[in-house]
Amino acid sequence: MANERNRIITIANQKGGVGKTTTAINLATALAAIGERVLIIDLDPQGNASTGLGIGRRDRACSSYDVLVGERSIGEAALQTAVPNLFIVPSTMDLLGLEMEIAQRGDRAFRLRQALQTEEAFAYSYILLDCPPSFNLLTVNAMAAAHSVLVPLQCEFFALEGLSQLLETVDEVRRTVNPSLDIQGIVLTMYDSRNNLAQQVVNDVREHLGEKVYHTLIPRNVRVSEAPSYGKPAILYDLKCAGSQAYLQLASEVIQRERRRKIAA
Ligand code: ADP
Ligand code: MG
Repeated sequence: MANERNRIITIANQKGGVGKTTTAINLATALAAIGERVLIIDLDPQGNASTGLGIGRRDRACSSYDVLVGERSIGEAALQTAVPNLFIVPSTMDLLGLEMEIAQRGDRAFRLRQALQTEEAFAYSYILLDCPPSFNLLTVNAMAAAHSVLVPLQCEFFALEGLSQLLETVDEVRRTVNPSLDIQGIVLTMYDSRNNLAQQVVNDVREHLGEKVYHTLIPRNVRVSEAPSYGKPAILYDLKCAGSQAYLQLASEVIQRERRRKIAA
């Protein structure tokens, strides 16, 4: 990706329920809270990021589907959320039909990238793409449009196996649609310190992936799981809870790494 005017991060893991959406919402909120202008693009037909940020079905007249088919621009589809500086392009079930509709087009993998190569998209300093739990044309569009992939990994037995599949996918994407796709980092989620296996997973993942793994561990926390039903990021719902504090810490790690990357570039 040539553009360095913003940072586009896709939050991906082909497994469902590992904390992608929770990470997208809370990382975005934390970045917005320190003054970054942030956009989430909800690419999951389930629309959990949209719901979790309080965007009701009625407010989704314009969605990521419209952007991908080229009927709307990012600026037209982005909605302000209750969090200052945080915007979202919501999703609808229409996304389920997208694959069929654009399958024959030569540019099918690059629909999102095209939409993001615009002044409207450059107005955000961070764009986070919340992916569905599968490897399909939506995920390919996200990986083709992004500078990097951030991988939430649940601390459980098959975590490493899932991770190696994902890293193979990233290699495939580099060979085909986006040679400069970077790994932003791996964040371990739903960590339970009382569980010995979780500690083992943390050790294994750190051993294999080293510095790509964030120091911050996101703990399993009830307040984090309650927040979406109030249409709020955990950070707004209960700033003091351990989960919110962990997401703030993750945001500061993301920013520190970005600073280092820019200095090295
Ligand atoms: P994904 O987007 O990967 O499918 P979600 O972010 O939707 O995963 O998380 C799956 C479920 O786990 C949701 O119900 C969410 O509220 C819950 N959850 C996510 N992170 C945490 C956490 N740190 N502590 C407790 N529950 C969590
Ligand atoms: Mg999700």
